[in-house]
Amino acid sequence: MLLAVEGLKMYYGVSNETVKAVDGVSFSLGEAESLGIVGESGCGKSSLAMALLKILPSNARIVDGRILLEGVDIVSLPEERLRRGIRWKKISMVFQGSMSALNPVIKVGEQIAEAIIIHENGVTKKEALERAANLLEIVGLDRSTLKRYPFELSGGQRQRAVIAMALALNPKVLIADEPTTALDVIVQAQILKLLRELKERLRLSIVFISHDVSVISEVSDRVAIMYAGKFVESGNAEAVFLKPSHPYTQALISAVPSIKEPRKTFKYIVGQPPSLINPPPGCRFHPRCPYVMDVCRSEEPPIIEVEKGHFAACHLLGG
Ligand code: ATP
Ligand code: SF4
Repeated sequence: MLLAVEGLKMYYGVSNETVKAVDGVSFSLGEAESLGIVGESGCGKSSLAMALLKILPSNARIVDGRILLEGVDIVSLPEERLRRGIRWKKISMVFQGSMSALNPVIKVGEQIAEAIIIHENGVTKKEALERAANLLEIVGLDRSTLKRYPFELSGGQRQRAVIAMALALNPKVLIADEPTTALDVIVQAQILKLLRELKERLRLSIVFISHDVSVISEVSDRVAIMYAGKFVESGNAEAVFLKPSHPYTQALISAVPSIKEPRKTFKYIVGQPPSLINPPPGCRFHPRCPYVMDVCRSEEPPIIEVEKGHFAACHLLGG
């Protein structure tokens, strides 16, 4: 398995309290496979993404779990080894809002070439610019984009340039955190198509992160539904979206409008996601769940395999 995450916990310290942003997440990812992680704002998606690269704010800690990349646990690796051999080279990321992270007054080619030169010894500027030009072509931009400034590009072109930069050191795993959020629907569809093509062409494994179920359903071989720091359901995308087992997944899916169906009243999920400082005991979804039972308020539901490779954590499923 290319990437295997086991029981990962990442917490933030705030004053004297602990925000349990990622609280026991496990998944695996094979070569050229895509996993979509979907959940409401604040459920811990971006925290999980940062934990996977071990790019943590100063108040954050990985308190438990392993991140095995080609069998090597990167949680226990020293920063120097991560910087030299892992980050950007094996596992790379398109950050949320990263379109605006390109320096507007440095030419696109210079920025990509610089990323290559900083991370790889012995690459000349000429070689790095040639590689940057190839990368721009791979993401569907003209070589002439090398000489253009980010402010001269459209939103979609900028996002393609950011993806090219994330691919500059030939990573095996790409984490894309809300890669299309700031784009209009047409450009969004083009970027999702590009990411699907890159997955096949470069045998790239991709972790997609989004609050948008329809985006995740477009691009994922497998999906995980995240709620309050935990995965509540995961499996093959088709199985999870066509036969959702967890009440939270059912509510998320029923809240997605379809232009093909007649207008209907959507079942919005009542209530707010819980605080991750003092999450509800038992099942964290219980304050909002229409099927809540007594046991849900005190006992954490076990993870049940509802069908082969399709898992959900809910007391309704027995176990
Ligand atoms: P969004 O899509 O809105 O970014 P998310 O699902 O990615 O949401 P995170 O940003 O990972 O969620 O946040 C998870 C929890 O951690 C939230 O309660 C958030 O307030 C908290 N959090 C995030 N960053 C920090 C930080 N640096 N210090 C303390 N708490 C944080
Ligand atoms: Fe609802 Fe209980 Fe299942 Fe949680 S465990 S989703 S509260 S039925």
